[in-house]
Parts: sequence; structure tokens; C-alpha cells
Amino acid sequence: MQVELNNATGLLAVIGDPVAHSRSPLLHNAMLARLGLNYIYLPVHVLRGRTAPWLDAAREAGFQGFNATMPHKTALVPLMDELSEDAARCGAVNTVRLREGRWQGFNTDGIGFLRAMEDAEIPVRGRKIAVLGAGGAVQSVALKLASAGAAEITVLARTVEKAEALVKMEPGIIRARPFSGAELNRAAADCDLLVNGTPLGMAGVSGNFEDFSFLDALPPGAAVCDLIYSPLKTKLLQNAENMGHRAVNGLGMLIHQAICALELFTDENIERGPMAAMLRKTLTEPISRD
Ligand code: NAP
Repeated sequence: MQVELNNATGLLAVIGDPVAHSRSPLLHNAMLARLGLNYIYLPVHVLRGRTAPWLDAAREAGFQGFNATMPHKTALVPLMDELSEDAARCGAVNTVRLREGRWQGFNTDGIGFLRAMEDAEIPVRGRKIAVLGAGGAVQSVALKLASAGAAEITVLARTVEKAEALVKMEPGIIRARPFSGAELNRAAADCDLLVNGTPLGMAGVSGNFEDFSFLDALPPGAAVCDLIYSPLKTKLLQNAENMGHRAVNGLGMLIHQAICALELFTDENIERGPMAAMLRKTLTEPISRD
């Protein structure tokens, strides 16, 4: 990708520990090139525990904004001058911008998920949703689903206290269940959409679901979404598809959280459909070395 730099080039980044795996530089630089915006977006390895010194360094170096991945998302919360409602609700920040000297923190994961569901034409309003896992991604997704009008969200978690923390935020809508075979079957039997928010099935992570028999319990029209995007088709999605269910991977969420973040950094109003299509191609087609 050709990037032209000059003295007016704006600085954006993603911070993480590790950060080398992040797809954000690829996504954001592709969007910036497409929009003809004079910024560069860099990966910056900020060590765990060094979030506060990074903020000082970023301010001094002239960064206008940055995204954050593990383990900085929660550490950023008390360091922000202002927090968006989504970031405050889920207690995690994935997008930060500096405006008039003030750090503003946002969380675009939940809206990214909703927009991915919209693209896939999977309705959430009034629907029953089973969510597996209760980690950082699920905190954003489940709370956003609740504010988008989901009728009932069952969060099945190995550490059930994490799901119970979500119940406290949305007691009428979210309920917590242990992550067990029997509970998986029960939740699957009574949902319109099943979302995997655990790393089970992710490339480079050992472990997968012990069995996929809970998919047998899904009603015929139910859809399955995996937040994982590598591999593009997890065994969960493959099995769901073989059984005739709609199966959606995490690429849409990844793409839409990035589009939303770039809008916050640049104040551009991005036409989402064509941009998402371009990013999907960028992420899934082999890179040309020409
Ligand atoms: P996280 O904070 O580490 O949470 C992982 C969750 O999965 C926790 O609830 C954890 O339970 C549970 N879990 C892990 N191993 C399990 C097992 N063997 N059995 C049952 N539950 C298990 O991770 P995260 O950031 O939320 O990410 C979760 C997944 O979402 C990852 O695959 C990640 O790649 C994906 N993700 C995708 C996007 C996107 O844009 N598409 C964005 C963010 C994340 P404990 O609490 O008991 O450990």
C-alpha cells in the first residue's frame, strides 16, 4: 500500500501488548487511502501497565487518536477526560481521540456488531439471543444488543460472575447461565440467534467445543454468529451451515468497529456499504505484490 507522508500527515495508531497480530493498521490505512485523507495509522507496542505513560507520549508526539486492544481497553477507562455512554456502560475503551486537549474514550465494538447483523439481515430487536462467553467482546455486544431492543439475552459463561455483572446492568433483559452442555442445549432451543464470544475454535488457540450437539436444539430459522474471524469459517459455523442455519463470522464486526472508529478520528461521514465491501476484500483476498 502506497502512503504519501508530508509535514501535515496526521498520526493515528493501535496500541496493544501484543500488537503485531492486529488487523487495524491494514484496515485503517486502506480506508485512509480510499478517502484520500492525510493520516498514517501505525501499530505501537505499548506494554501492559504502561497505558498512562503512553497517553503522555502520544500527546507529546502529536497523535490525534488511537485504537486499543488487549490489555489496554479497561486500563484506559479511568484515564479518559470524557467517556461515551457505550464505553462507560461496558467499562472498556477501544477508540480514543484527543480533542481540545482532552482525551475522549469510545467503544465501537457493540455498534460494530449491530451493523454486522444489519448487513447480514439478521434482526435483533424483539429477538431471543444466546451469547457464549462473558469476556470483553461480549460485554460490549450484550449491552448493545440490550439497548437495541433484544427481548432476552442469555449469557452462558464459564466464570458465571462475569455474566452476572452484565445482568446487573440490564436485569430485565440479560440473564446469566453456566457454560455447560445442558445449559447450552436449553439456551440454543429457545433462541433466534446464537453468538459465540469465546475463543473456542480460533486459529492459534488450543481447544474447541467438546461437541456441537447443542446446534441440534436450535430452532430451524435461528442464525449463528461467531465473533471469531480467523479462521473465516470456524467448526461452529461450518456445522451450523451444514444444518441449514445462517452462519456469520466476526469479519463484519471487525470492519464496522473500524469504520466507526475512523469516523470518530476524522469526523468524516463514511458511506458504510461500499467501505465495508472494500475492507472485506482487503481482508480476504491474497495481497498483490505488484
Ligand atoms: P476475553 O475477554 O478473554 O473473553 C473470553 C471469554 O471466553 C471469557 O468469558 C472466557 O471465560 C471464555 N472462555 C475462554 N475459554 C473458554 C472455554 N474453554 N470454555 C468456555 N468459555 C471459555 O476475550 P474477548 O476479547 O472477549 O474475545 C473473545 C472472542 O471474540 C475472541 O475469539 C476474539 O477474537 C473475538 N473478538 C472479535 C472481535 C471482532 O471484531 N470480530 C472483537 C473482539 C473480540 P473465563 O472468563 O472463564 O476465562
